Amino acid sequence: MTKKIAVIGGDGIGVEITVEARRVLNKIAEKYGHEFKYTNVLMGGVAIDELGTPLPEETINVCKASDAVLLGAVGGPKWDVGPGHLRPEAGLLGIRGALGLFANLRPVKLFDALADECLLKNSKKIDMVIVRELIGGAYFGKRETYIDENGAKAAYDTMLYRDWEIERIAKVAFKLALKRTGNVVSVDKANVLDSSRLWREVVHNVYAGNEDYKRINLSDMLVDNAAMQLVREPGQFDVIVTENLFGDILSDEASVLTGSLGMLPSASLAENSVGLFEPCHGSAPDIAGQNKANPIAMLLSSAMMLRLSFDMEQEALDIENAVEKVLAKGFRTGDIYRGNDGTKLVGCTEMGDAVIAEL
Ligand code: NAD
Repeated sequence: MTKKIAVIGGDGIGVEITVEARRVLNKIAEKYGHEFKYTNVLMGGVAIDELGTPLPEETINVCKASDAVLLGAVGGPKWDVGPGHLRPEAGLLGIRGALGLFANLRPVKLFDALADECLLKNSKKIDMVIVRELIGGAYFGKRETYIDENGAKAAYDTMLYRDWEIERIAKVAFKLALKRTGNVVSVDKANVLDSSRLWREVVHNVYAGNEDYKRINLSDMLVDNAAMQLVREPGQFDVIVTENLFGDILSDEASVLTGSLGMLPSASLAENSVGLFEPCHGSAPDIAGQNKANPIAMLLSSAMMLRLSFDMEQEALDIENAVEKVLAKGFRTGDIYRGNDGTKLVGCTEMGDAVIAEL
């Protein structure tokens, strides 16, 4: 099979980890007789420096013409001073909007070999997916900063959802739950927010409207309680579905359960467009360019690309199993290395080598 992949290395460690992703994907291609054709495109700080914009048209066009997009990370202190539309993050929001990436899937899994890395001691098995709505709500609603009638500086953001936006993300969560244990928790703030009351109503209508969903166990949870339950008993969750802002915060909270941000992949999916696959972490300027980054989140994101965009289940499993074995053998990048347990400290490239060796 031949597939076109747009690669956005971005800034900081984004560049290093996408190199490892390509090396691992090339090994998969060799093993299964596939051909992956990569096109490198600019986004984020590097695009601001070279082209004066965080999201060049060319990048959008190449992504749209590809079968999938791999993204490293964007951002860094160098670009933190510009106005909002000239910051690397504007590239991130822009590409999500341009590709219609409404569904963000973030698996949060604690590997057995890293059980001691979990901040919660004696917690039960952690293996959940957070399904976050990605192009609605407060991050995309009307906003303004202004001087009010009394001369005070004021600002507002609008959290707006339409029924169809909630319907389509609810369906993603239910379909995913059918392949897992079938336990869906819908997170909202329906005791206070109108948009959350609509969220709850629509999620339940979608649930009731499909016979296939009957074997799913759906429950609602207020976001403040969800934040607490995630650290109290994370093992209770299988699929969490929630709106954009709540999902942003809860998925970062959940990420520490696996020991390091460097372990967490994500997939952003559209209805009729390409998917984008990226680690949950940022560009880590503190370790950029030093061969210290953990490439595993990027490698697991590549596995999600193989599974969800290319329908290559076995190839995806190969990468996931290789990562599991490499961790079991004791290979550790700095973020997951403790030094007193017989494990071996390796760099980004060596971690890539180890995964390739297992493949
Ligand atoms: P960060 O995720 O880049 O780093 C947080 C901490 O985790 C750092 O100590 C870093 O060294 C470590 N870390 C992160 N990923 C790692 C990896 N793969 N291996 C080893 N250690 C890793 O978050 P930050 O420091 O808050 O943000 C840095 C920049 O990244 C900012 O400009 C921010 O806006 C941007 N950012 C981008 C994205 C994205 O591109 N999707 C997401 C979050 C933050």
